[in-house]
Amino acid sequence: MDLLPALRGIPFRIFALHQPVCPDILNKTSMHLPKRYLITAALPYANGLKHIGHLAGAYLPADIYVRYLRAQKRDVVFVCGSDEHGTAIPIQAMKEGTTPQAIIDKYHGIIKQNFADLSISFDIYDRTSSPVHHETSREFFTMLNDAGELETKETEQYFDEQAKTFLADRYIKGTCPNCGYDSAYGDQCEKCGTSLSPDELINPVSTLSGHPPVKKKTTHWYLPLNRHEEFLRQWILEDHKDDWRANVVGQCKSWIDGGLQARAVTRDLDWGIKVPLPEAEGKVLYVWFDAPIGYISATKQWAINNGKDWEPYWYDKETKLVHFIGKDNIVFHAIIFPVMLKLHGNILPDNVPSNEFLNLEGDKMSTSRNWKLDMQDFIDDFVNRENGGPQLVDALRYYLTQIAPETKDSEFTWKGFQDAVNNELVAIFGNFVNRAFVLMHKLTHGKVPPLHNELLDEKDHEMMDEIKKAKARIENLLEGYKFREAQFEVIDLARKGNKYMQEKEPWIKAKKKDAADATPEQSAAFQREIDNCMHICLQLCANLAILINPFLPNAARKMIYLMKVVEKMLDWENAGSMKLLSVGYSLRAPELLFRKIEDMEIQEQIDKLKNNSLPVPGEAAATTAEPAIAPVTDAPGHTAIKPTIQFDDFAKIDLRVGTILAAEKVEKADKLLKLSVDMGFETRTIVSGIALHFSPDEIVGKQVVVVTNLAPRKMRGIESNGMILMAEDAAGKLHFVRPESMINAGSGVS
Ligand SMILES: [Zn+2]
Repeated sequence: MDLLPALRGIPFRIFALHQPVCPDILNKTSMHLPKRYLITAALPYANGLKHIGHLAGAYLPADIYVRYLRAQKRDVVFVCGSDEHGTAIPIQAMKEGTTPQAIIDKYHGIIKQNFADLSISFDIYDRTSSPVHHETSREFFTMLNDAGELETKETEQYFDEQAKTFLADRYIKGTCPNCGYDSAYGDQCEKCGTSLSPDELINPVSTLSGHPPVKKKTTHWYLPLNRHEEFLRQWILEDHKDDWRANVVGQCKSWIDGGLQARAVTRDLDWGIKVPLPEAEGKVLYVWFDAPIGYISATKQWAINNGKDWEPYWYDKETKLVHFIGKDNIVFHAIIFPVMLKLHGNILPDNVPSNEFLNLEGDKMSTSRNWKLDMQDFIDDFVNRENGGPQLVDALRYYLTQIAPETKDSEFTWKGFQDAVNNELVAIFGNFVNRAFVLMHKLTHGKVPPLHNELLDEKDHEMMDEIKKAKARIENLLEGYKFREAQFEVIDLARKGNKYMQEKEPWIKAKKKDAADATPEQSAAFQREIDNCMHICLQLCANLAILINPFLPNAARKMIYLMKVVEKMLDWENAGSMKLLSVGYSLRAPELLFRKIEDMEIQEQIDKLKNNSLPVPGEAAATTAEPAIAPVTDAPGHTAIKPTIQFDDFAKIDLRVGTILAAEKVEKADKLLKLSVDMGFETRTIVSGIALHFSPDEIVGKQVVVVTNLAPRKMRGIESNGMILMAEDAAGKLHFVRPESMINAGSGVS
């Protein structure tokens, strides 16, 4: 809107200060824009490789959000780093026969490189072993302690007299009181998954010396969370009950309702940040305390590296702080760390978008069972192969966002990955861009053709409208942390582009234009129609590059290369514009954005996963490629349990009670009986292999349980519609499975 003509003659200062801004100029989101953003992603623990469940849970959604904010030209800093303290580090060092320092150096290096390889664009990827972090954590502890916000308590803990050291929970092994597994750790049984305390272990032994530990008194500092219940109730359960995800609020509520306890801030260990008190010799800060402070240290380090001021990011209320995490981290980021921040005088997080878990091929991802796909594996097997490269990075990012576990657990399957890439990225998005470029070179001399406004029809207007509307929709979804839906909208816009092009058929118009009987006027008219279609399709390509950029930055980069435009075109404010590419501008020859994933590639991955997986710790029977389909030989008389299914699998089976109305032998088939079964709503014919166990007379009138939705099958020329459930005893005799007392035929069984 041009306000200037009406304001001519009015001094500019008055316009700037007093002229009310037309409400159309401001959209909803820009009304209360924070001055700056600080985005964090959970610090990965540097004791091993990280898998794609981690990537999908915290790093990828954070990266999408940050790339979007950057495209909006907002002031944003994206921090992360390796969490390098805690007992698991020295334990991993023992396993690998090396030092804790060597372990963190190794895994910090690998994880940092993995993130870079998968286009996760941290402003800094720091580490908690850095001097800045040690100093920041000690200052944090000292301030809380001096302010009387910590308590000390004397307790008895296990001590190894040979090794002369207190034992962290992980250093104690014993028999699990729950399942009897004899190598359960002092904090958890890896076989049955129960959380334990060392006191619960039967016959505890120190893993350092192999001797039973003794109890010894020790003093520790605690954060009394119970003092902050009222604040947490108000802040989370009232103030954020609507804008935080339901899973986060729900988990917090159950923690708070369960009664908040004082939590030990220090522990007896020699790996970590020394407690800055003379009386705390031999103690370090608990890793849960120092790790989140790592976000602050990383911001400081980023500021040092870039000559910036870090303090506004942690103290100014105009900063929007957002923690991206997985659901196992909710309590630390939504309850404990905010209490620490509040006591320390910092700002609190505005949101804590937490994701549920990502399963893999029908099972939970597990490092101990090696049922996982590490970021490193994907990089080796796809990105770094000859036909790989950045497009495979985007393929993974695309699928992980499509199945993002935003509200419930979701599942990565190789077939799903292949389908997403081949049927959506290649067939919809890539296909549209490619066709637009191919046709432009064929029909408009490789140049952006003019738009003939007077010829625009309803379909043209509809398409241009969709482009404008898509921006606002995607923006709202991204601002609300709904990345899955936002990405869907981008693909959907490309889908509409394909449909538009298909309906406009510029290639048919080209034929008509070149037809022998076409007059020069007719040819020119057809060309103008082609121009309009191609102009709109090319402007749509430019818009798609902007909109896909937060999700698939490598594809966006390739698109601006093909369009020969500068990176600045990707600024979010340009989305929705129909003037991104100038008329007459020549673009490059088409190149495919994505390649298909072949059957062979996914079969290779499925085989690799099954062949490399390990049994559950302590499980005697090896369950490798085909878990327990063959009968287990060491348990005579019992067949092994079939592989776990999900409730959804079970729910597909329709079981109902039926009453046998009639039964007769099937000719020339000793084992088969032909039954008529009343199912309540209809009478079914079912052929059942029970003739050797029952005579027809004795079973008429009996109730049975029928699998009602089993596909029909012909036996001896008779179509059988369903199956009757039977139990087989040790002697091989069959028994009907049926309700305890007579009920209506057709009653459901579940
Ligand atoms: Zn157990």
